[in-house]
Amino acid sequence: MRILVTGGAGFLGSHLCERLLAAGNEVICLDNFFTGRKKNVQHVLNNPNFDLIRHDITIPILLEVDKIYHLACPASPIHYQYNAIKTIKTNVLGTINMLGIAKRAKARILFASTSEVYGDPAVHPQKEDYWGNVNTIGIRSCYDEGKRVAETLMMDYHRQNKVDIKIIRIFNTYGPRMLPDDGRVVSNFIIQALKGEDITVYGKGSQTRSFCYVDDLVEGMVRMMDSENFTGPVNLGNPEEYTILEFAKKIIAMTGSKSKIAYKPLPSDDPRQRQPDITLAGQKLGWKPVVSVTDGLTRTVEYFRKELAV
Ligand code: NAD
Ligand code: UDP
Repeated sequence: MRILVTGGAGFLGSHLCERLLAAGNEVICLDNFFTGRKKNVQHVLNNPNFDLIRHDITIPILLEVDKIYHLACPASPIHYQYNAIKTIKTNVLGTINMLGIAKRAKARILFASTSEVYGDPAVHPQKEDYWGNVNTIGIRSCYDEGKRVAETLMMDYHRQNKVDIKIIRIFNTYGPRMLPDDGRVVSNFIIQALKGEDITVYGKGSQTRSFCYVDDLVEGMVRMMDSENFTGPVNLGNPEEYTILEFAKKIIAMTGSKSKIAYKPLPSDDPRQRQPDITLAGQKLGWKPVVSVTDGLTRTVEYFRKELAV
């Protein structure tokens, strides 16, 4: 199969490219390197089945492929808010462009949506049939609403043009190759703990998140792409839920750090709770995460220790 991975030089995309190449596919990685790095795919650059194209998906491109994993979009709040209008363009124009390729080339397309479509959820844990509680005019809206309209585009191309689509809703996922200055909680806390700096807990740290290790997520993505008669949306995440304060303490304990906790203002619209209900993924894909948060964090801490030593 010839497979296009948009955002393939990013955190999740680079792990996915590796996995697809190992299975003997040809992979075209399309990335504008906003939050991705060549370094993430350096080790596969010599693989004759791998192509890297520097391109911005808001601009149309002509490609012949069998499958598209559409991941391009900054995922960290700091990065997606840096140029909010660009984030919306990436989700709307970028998704239209990728759906255009899928329609013309008759390629199956999988869209990486997010738990953020549930906003600040009034239902807990979140199931796919919950419509969400999203502020349309807040600082997270460029991402949340961008992803929501991208889901709508996927469904409308499916209904109107019979495009073969898949939608996954990814919950907080972490692991090696997250950027050290990415701004997301896992990389922030680990780097701060390893450097002995204050651990920055936003608000009281009573908000919750559930953390999935990257290998589990990639397995779920591939299973969804290869599933039949199922468009989704389907939740992919690990239901192991922590308050952010508990999570900070866990990372301090795991790293043996002397860091103290420093409380910082809570950003606006920060969701108060988040945990995936993954019953549907179990039923339709036979998928559930197998890496515990403790094991996944151990691997991630090891990665950042090496990164900091370089
Ligand atoms: P990331 O920021 O590491 O990767 C995103 C990649 O997309 C980067 O390589 C970036 O350079 C590229 N990109 C951004 N805008 C682009 C554009 N206009 N044209 C071409 N390339 C562009 O983030 P990630 O964690 O790997 O997330 C990948 C996808 O999964 C994103 O769509 C994100 O919304 C989704 N997701 C991730 C998580 C998570 O916890 N990691 C959770 C929910 C959803
Ligand atoms: N967070 C925090 N300190 C940090 C970074 C994040 O307390 O240094 C909190 C943030 O306010 C949120 C949670 O951790 O409640 C997860 O943040 P992240 O940016 O990783 O993802 P998202 O909010 O998109 O789930």
